[in-house]
Amino acid sequence: MTSLLLERAWVDGSVQDDVLVEIEDGRFTSVTPGAQSGERLAGLTIPGMANCHSHAFHRALRGRTQRERGSFWTWRDQMYDVAGRLDPDGYHELARATYREMAAAGITCVGEFHYLHHQPDGTPYDDPNAMGLALVEAAREAGIRITLLDTCYLSSGFGEPPDGVQVRYADRDATAWAERVGLLAAPPTGVVVGAAVHSVRAVPVEQLPTVAEWAGAAKPLHVHLSEQVAENRACVAAYSRTPTEVLALHGVLGPRTSAVHATHLTEGDIRLLGSTGTHACFCPTTERDLGDGVGPSRRLHVAGAPLTIGSDSHAVIDLFEEMRAVELDERLASQQRGHWSAPELLSAATARGHRSLGWDDAGAIAVGRRADLVTIDTTSPRTAGTGRDESSVVFAATAEDVTQVMVDGRVVVRKGDRDEIGRELDEAIGKVFT
Ligand SMILES: [Zn+2]
Repeated sequence: MTSLLLERAWVDGSVQDDVLVEIEDGRFTSVTPGAQSGERLAGLTIPGMANCHSHAFHRALRGRTQRERGSFWTWRDQMYDVAGRLDPDGYHELARATYREMAAAGITCVGEFHYLHHQPDGTPYDDPNAMGLALVEAAREAGIRITLLDTCYLSSGFGEPPDGVQVRYADRDATAWAERVGLLAAPPTGVVVGAAVHSVRAVPVEQLPTVAEWAGAAKPLHVHLSEQVAENRACVAAYSRTPTEVLALHGVLGPRTSAVHATHLTEGDIRLLGSTGTHACFCPTTERDLGDGVGPSRRLHVAGAPLTIGSDSHAVIDLFEEMRAVELDERLASQQRGHWSAPELLSAATARGHRSLGWDDAGAIAVGRRADLVTIDTTSPRTAGTGRDESSVVFAATAEDVTQVMVDGRVVVRKGDRDEIGRELDEAIGKVFT
């Protein structure tokens, strides 16, 4: 058994002092605020955070796509260039380094929206899940849990076959996708296998029910939704319905589903997402990097669509920045302050996020839950004097302020690991471009 006395910790929705936690077999067996003695862990400790939307290989693009003018679609050409360069070994190395960067930022679980499946000419690898398994192994080595959201991708656009590097993403149809993913049926500990619909442009309507049925009532199902106005227009032209309406009509929405981005929505879309209890996964640093726009996060929440958070393209890996950006973007859009409270945002990044990835037993410092602990320095130049409460975490801290990370009862990051993680990233990304 491990026992720790947390100087301050976010327990039961508030920050409490001197919280004694006892851990056995990776779970909390007791949580006692106001304790007198124990091995002290200084700082403010929060539950593990869930990064609900990741494309690990996009990490290779950071800093390399900023010179040219353009749009989401010109950025996508650069992203496709990297997608064309990876094999299972290179993907594994890049993903491991990226997941280590996540771990050091307090992320204890990643939702990997994985569509880079096949060889460059579209032929499956000998093991047709070689690329997905490379990600699973990368997460294991980085010490974080993974939900592998294996992504169905069938068409380049409405009625268009896969084009160029997209042949690496595509299965023959949704049935072939389900057969391939079915081979991952018994994942190892620390892994959930879920499903994803890449988008309404990449999965024709008649194929959507097969993916939704495979996910069933229990598995996580994620989908890119209305990130770009152009996609909305093309969808309405093809189907006379918005992307949200198309997904609703074919059984894709519901409480196990996460709609990623949900940026350009009609009032009817918001009502549909809310009434079905679909999660809205916002990725503000990517959405700002790509010039996507600002989605209606608060209106979705009020309608009944719970918020979750992701770092998506990894232009930034810092869920503290993502949390506050949800509120700050609303301020820019509305010229009003105070849409989201710090506890609400912290809950989105922890318990809500974990639940949306199929980990109902994580994301809280509570008896029976998985023992994830993320400790933040409250005396850094950024956090000093900020009150050492939820607002310090959400509105002052950065990934750099994380001093220790425990996942499932095991310490996976300590202060001082960052130099080595930086070297590993540099090496893995260098190999992508040689
Ligand atoms: Zn994405």
